[in-house]
Formats: sequence, C-alpha cells, structure tokens
Amino acid sequence: MPAADLVINGTVLTVDDAQPTAEAIAVSDGRIVAVGSRADIESWIGPDTQTLDTGDGCVMPGLVEAHGHPLMEAIVLSDRMVDIRPVTMSDADDVVAAIHSEVAKRGSAGAFLVGWDALLQTGLPSPTLEWLNSCAPDSPLVIIHNSGHKAFFNTAAAAVAGITRDTPDPKGSKYGHDANGDLDGTAEESAAVFSLMAAAIDAGAYPAMLRDELGRLNRAGLTTCSEMAFDGAFRPVLEQMRDELTVRLRVYEMSNPSMSTDMTPANGDDMFRQVGIKIWWDGSPWIGNIDLSFPYLDTDATRSIGVTPGSCGHANYTREQLVEIVGAYFPKGWPMSCHVQGDAGVDPILDIYEDALKRWPRDDHRLRLEHVGAISDAQLQRAHDLGVTCSIFVDQIHYWGDIIVDGLFGTEHGNRWMPCGSAVKTGMRISLHNDPPVTPEEPLRNISVAATRTAPSGRVIGPEQCITVEQAIRAQTIDAAYQLFADDIIGSLEVGKYADMVVLSADPRAVPPEEIADLEVRATFLAGKQVYGV
Ligand SMILES: [Zn+2]
Repeated sequence: MPAADLVINGTVLTVDDAQPTAEAIAVSDGRIVAVGSRADIESWIGPDTQTLDTGDGCVMPGLVEAHGHPLMEAIVLSDRMVDIRPVTMSDADDVVAAIHSEVAKRGSAGAFLVGWDALLQTGLPSPTLEWLNSCAPDSPLVIIHNSGHKAFFNTAAAAVAGITRDTPDPKGSKYGHDANGDLDGTAEESAAVFSLMAAAIDAGAYPAMLRDELGRLNRAGLTTCSEMAFDGAFRPVLEQMRDELTVRLRVYEMSNPSMSTDMTPANGDDMFRQVGIKIWWDGSPWIGNIDLSFPYLDTDATRSIGVTPGSCGHANYTREQLVEIVGAYFPKGWPMSCHVQGDAGVDPILDIYEDALKRWPRDDHRLRLEHVGAISDAQLQRAHDLGVTCSIFVDQIHYWGDIIVDGLFGTEHGNRWMPCGSAVKTGMRISLHNDPPVTPEEPLRNISVAATRTAPSGRVIGPEQCITVEQAIRAQTIDAAYQLFADDIIGSLEVGKYADMVVLSADPRAVPPEEIADLEVRATFLAGKQVYGV
C-alpha cells in the first residue's frame, strides 16, 4: 500500500462511537486513510511521510462553528471599525473615549464602532440622537450594538446612507422615529443595520480582511464555519478567493424581499456551499425585542436598555410573513434556519415548519432553530419529534449569566436559559455556537460553559442544564457538521473523511471541564494541510 503523507501519533479523540480513542492516524491526499493503534499505523509510514507526535496533547476533529458570521466579522474586526465589544472594553468611559477619538481620526470618512452593550458596560450615556450629534456634529458616526441587532447613527450618517424620515422600513427591521416622525438615530434588525454599514465596506480592502478572519478562525481550531446571514453580494469575492480559503464555509442566505435566491440546493463543493436560507422571528435579549411568554423584570438593567417594565418583548415578523417566506423557499428544496430567542416565538415557527413538512414532505430536512434562549422542555420535545434541531448560544452564560438571572428574567427563567441539558435529553443533536462577533470565536470555551454553566460571578446557572464534556464535544464537531449537511465528510476522525484536525495541548476529556476553555490550539489542519501552527 502507498505511504501516507502525514501520520500523527498520540491521543486521537475521534468522536467516532466505534472507536472513541485511538493512538495514531494516517492521512493521504487530504483524507484519513487509517485510524488505530500505533502498530496498525506503522505500515503507513514511508520515507516521505511527515510524522508528528502530539506528546501530552491530543488530536481531534477540526472544530465546527454551526452559527457564525465570518463574512461580517471580517469587516467588524478589521481596522476600519473600532472594536468596543464588552469582551474588549468593559469600562463605559473607555467606550466613550474610543468614540471621540475615532470621530477625530476619521473625520468626514465617518466613524464606525461595534460592540456597544449597556448591560455589561454599565454607565454608558443614553445614545440619543442629540448625544450622537454632539459626539460628531459634522461627520458620520455609526455605533453598532454588540448583539448586531441594533445601531445608533447620527444625522450625518443618515445623510450618507440616504436615509430620511420617509425611508420605508425594510421587512423585519425598522428605523426609529420620534414623536414628530423624524429619525431618532436608531435602527433595529439586519436590513436596517446593514444599510448604515455600507459606507464602511471598501470592496478593494475586503480580501485582506477576510484573509485575517480565516486566520483567526484557524487559530481557534476551526476548520468549518457557517455564515448565517449570507448576502449574495459576497459571491464574486468568494469565487475570487476560492483557493485561499482555509476554512470550509457553509452559508445560509438571508431571506430577501423578493424571496428568491440565485442558487439551487445542489450547489458548490466541499469547500463552499450554500446549504440553506436564514429567517428571523425575533431579535436580541439585550435590546428587549425577543418574543417571550413572560415579562422582563423591572430593574436597573432593563431600564438601561430601554425595556418598558412588564414588557414580554415582541416578534419582528408576523406569522403570515413567515408562512409566506417559508412557502417561497422550502418547496424548492431549501433547508431553513430560524432565529428565535423567546419561547413565545417557538410554537409559531414549529407550526410553520410542521405545515411545510406536511405540504412538501422531505425526509432529510434538517430544519433548525437558532439560539433558543428561553425554549421550554415541551417545545424541545416537539422540535425533536419533527426532526428539527437547535443551535444553542450557551456562551451567553459566560458573559451575561448574572445579568440574565438578576437583571432580566429572574431565577426560574434565567436558570434554564440556553437549556442544553433539556435539549440533549430529548435525543436531539444540538450544536453550540458563538454567533461571532457577538462573542469571540471560542469553541473550546463553549465546551467548558456547556459543561459547567459558570457565570462571571462564579456561580453556576441552572446546574441541571449542564451537559457532559463528551456531549459538548459532539456539539462542536459531528453534530454541528450534521446541522450543516457535512457530517458525511467531516466532524469525526474516520477513514474516508477529510483530515480536518486540530491538535490541542491536552485531551479535553482528561482535564477539569473549566480548564478546556484555556487549552492551547497547537495546530490546525485542513484536508491534511497545516493551516495554523505554533
Ligand atoms: Zn447570528
């Protein structure tokens, strides 16, 4: 038999139930050709075989982000925008100082900042139009909320973006107006928020931004990433950069006003594929527009984000609108994925999915729900019975865990926020995600958080919703790949699959769960080729 191109010896964490741990793995032409004992693999070593020993480390499948925004994050984390996210800046005064200094630096080109979060950066001024205009009287200023679901913009930014008091709201999103009907400097939800960012996007600079982003993903151990708000305008640049991709991309195109896409479900290849259509029901817990069956608490925290006391939030779409959107794409064979944080939004979406499946039956539909902060046990069971899976934003516990319980929703609802435990109990294949740039791409931390549910204060939020490290690993590898229709080619270390692998400084199953977040990514391989290494 021919010699392998690469052999890795050491602890092999396969995520393959038939053989959870092995001692060595052999790779040829980008694919895994053998996994087993050292003796089994010995015969694959030839004179030109590169061999690597993990030492006290571990090799496991390349990590999979089932709900990312890499094409947007490439812009957000580039030099063109200032990163004021709470993960970067916790102090409100620093945020305000960053705004003033960026306005001074950019002048008429406009200042763009991303990451405003009044819940974690306590003491931020109220971002009224008056305040925004006082920060930047003559030049554009756009501040994107950390959730990505809201933006604050001054009068000059509105002029540059061509938005006036008469501009109609794009479907599912809106521009805020004051009592006189004038713009109040707020925009909510994707279409309205994106319309303000256009001025920051320079097509010529984009390839370099995306190259940096791919590097960041590889450093985090990722080899596959979804883009959950794909805009067809990115197709040409992705085509142009095809040979430079070091991460497999699986994109969900945003549903658009014409409710159509240029693609058909059979498209792309193993590096890039549009796998579905993304739809939205509600918004973000941090700006008050998620669709809940229970009210937000009346606290300093809810007042700081402008939530009306007693409010249960709201949906951004009507049931009729979603029926129309699903009815336009689903019969053409597209999988769908729906953003829904509040529990009151889950049943309408499941009703719509159930009806679609009755009218246009499909065996392998892999319909998805995204984030699902407040989903109930009964709703999880109903979703699982329909074959619908959830991608769960468990990292919220790490950053907002205390605020969720004390500031927003109370103990009963806060303790079961992002209920991974209830979800896996139904037998559902879940994924964990970071929704980057909302939280940084940190799949290893997700595994820690899902297993420990530790909030910033150190307390454990709803221990009954913890899952095991093994379950959490599946949710960042094979089960995430399943949701992206890629589990046949990646997600576990098995003969025939691509050799997408990450080498960690220890076996995550052998260290205390809270330490997994800080394991070092030593090397990342895409199809047997090293794309990152220390
Ligand atoms: Zn998202």
